[in-house]
Amino acid sequence: MNFLKSIFKKQKTIKSTLTISSANGFHLRPIAKFANEAKKFNSTITIISYEQEVAATQVPKIISLSLTKGESFTLKCVGEDAEEASRHLTSFFKELMENDKEIETLTQIDESYESPTLNGISIVPGIAIAPLVYCKTVENIDTQKALSINDSIKLVKKELEELYTKNKSNSEADIYLAHKELLSSDIFQQDFKDVEELKETIDKEIETLKGTKFESRIDDYKDILQQILTHTGITSTLKLPDTPYILLVDNLLPSDVPKLVDSPIQGVVLKHGSPTSHASILLRSFAIPTVIIDDYIDETDKAILDTSSGDILISPTKTDIDKAYEKQKLFQEKKAQNYKNRFNSTETLRGKSIKVLANIGDVQSAKEAKELGADGIGLLRSEFLFMEKKPTVKEQTNAYREIFELFDELTIRALDIGGDKPLPYAHIEKEQNPFLGIRGIRFLLLEKNLLEEQLLAIFKAVEEVNDKNKTMKVMFPMVSNCDEFIEAKKIAIDIAIKHNIDISNIEFGIMLEVPSVIFAIHEFDQLVDFYSIGTNDLTQYLFAIERTHASLQADALSPMVMNALKLIIKTTKKPISICGELAGLGAATETLINLGYDTLSVSAKLIPSLKERIRNV
Ligand code: PEP
Ligand code: MG
Repeated sequence: MNFLKSIFKKQKTIKSTLTISSANGFHLRPIAKFANEAKKFNSTITIISYEQEVAATQVPKIISLSLTKGESFTLKCVGEDAEEASRHLTSFFKELMENDKEIETLTQIDESYESPTLNGISIVPGIAIAPLVYCKTVENIDTQKALSINDSIKLVKKELEELYTKNKSNSEADIYLAHKELLSSDIFQQDFKDVEELKETIDKEIETLKGTKFESRIDDYKDILQQILTHTGITSTLKLPDTPYILLVDNLLPSDVPKLVDSPIQGVVLKHGSPTSHASILLRSFAIPTVIIDDYIDETDKAILDTSSGDILISPTKTDIDKAYEKQKLFQEKKAQNYKNRFNSTETLRGKSIKVLANIGDVQSAKEAKELGADGIGLLRSEFLFMEKKPTVKEQTNAYREIFELFDELTIRALDIGGDKPLPYAHIEKEQNPFLGIRGIRFLLLEKNLLEEQLLAIFKAVEEVNDKNKTMKVMFPMVSNCDEFIEAKKIAIDIAIKHNIDISNIEFGIMLEVPSVIFAIHEFDQLVDFYSIGTNDLTQYLFAIERTHASLQADALSPMVMNALKLIIKTTKKPISICGELAGLGAATETLINLGYDTLSVSAKLIPSLKERIRNV
């Protein structure tokens, strides 16, 4: 019977077109995340580009499509859960693209050293003064406890899974996931009879990458090979000095980078490399000053690496060495000072106090924000708690309580669904222009059950924490007129009465992200306790440029946005903060403070440097 049922199960086919909007293209890390996500569905999911159709779970095949910014592909889902898969993967992909920031390039200035210099591209800031040492890889063969190749592959996969889970909140986690997904692809699911066969298979993949935009991924294959070989008894290790040194290396594999940290390393000169390679990303996350150089360079007893100018000085004069030490001291003092002062109050030079809050998505990121000196949480994007499955009221209460226990001030944004963020288990009609459709509060007022449950969970968390000195704020997203707020607030009051919970200390406000609100501030002031400006959406709607658009980009720093912010703060009498990306941009800090904004909510890792910047305004 079951067999018959399965034959007649409805096989749906859903196709959608997705466009690469990240300047980095569809590269290994987002591909790996996408493949990992595609595996969660029963449907057969493929990616079609220029008449090539490849499985969405096969990382090497997707890489070989070489999809760059502006190109589109068709996502095809065939199966019982095709609709759900297509909806979820479409939104997941858009989020991947939006979060795949361009690698920040360091500004390089001209420095007047008297010694001859070589100039490269700086990728991790800092100054190093030490011998420049060429490190070779030493191979060692010990087959005593060696595993077979296929068992080694399994073990490396397990190790990568563990590393990914352990580092989930760090930038390196995506690299471990990428390597794990590469290893899970079909090319590694064969019986390898010997090392040669494994090497040949990997070489074939490497060949397909040569000359493409994704050439730097060759190192990832080499890295995987090295990790597999280690368990077959063939180890390759970089021989590192035990006194301070600047590493001069031809090619650094991602898995070598964490090992450098245990040695007295001062800096790295990469003879071949790219700012976007995974080794470079890891060097950045371990903060090891690094320059890439495309010039002849050799070992020397004394060298200076100065990333502010991208200079490498071989056998520098005493004057240059003194100068470099002075610069190094200032650099380190500044960095240490930012971190040390992260818990201190933040006042401008004229003594104006500014609150720096964090934007977070879950309990883990709340803990990270606490450690980085957040004065509170200005935006909990609660939809992240809802993405995988619908959380129960109890699960939500626990998460909100845990976060509220950490901070005196917590602003929870009610579920912000719609636009590019569908909920896999909620029914949202397909719309022509989803960013102009059933989003945020409009969705919540249609799905009142979800809103009621969330509000109840928040109220229960406040009751459980039971601390009158703490402030819980609830904020509704995408509000465009007063009626929406009135209706949402009424739902909140009714829920509180029904469950006999005192909510007199809870504040209710809105995200100010739809331009219509600017022209009704007086009316809103009569209703809301506070506003938080979502500059990401406000900019999108001011310029009528979709925030995920592949080729158009609205300028959040434009005088038009600043004029809107000026108008808002001049008009309202209610507390107001900014929680869009603009709040964390270095180029905006002084202007925002001068306009009168005194509460900025930003991604946690920006907090120490933003606080220091404010202290100098
Ligand atoms: C915003 O729109 O600026 C904002 C902070 O919210 P989100 O980016 O989650 O839409
Ligand atoms: Mg928004």
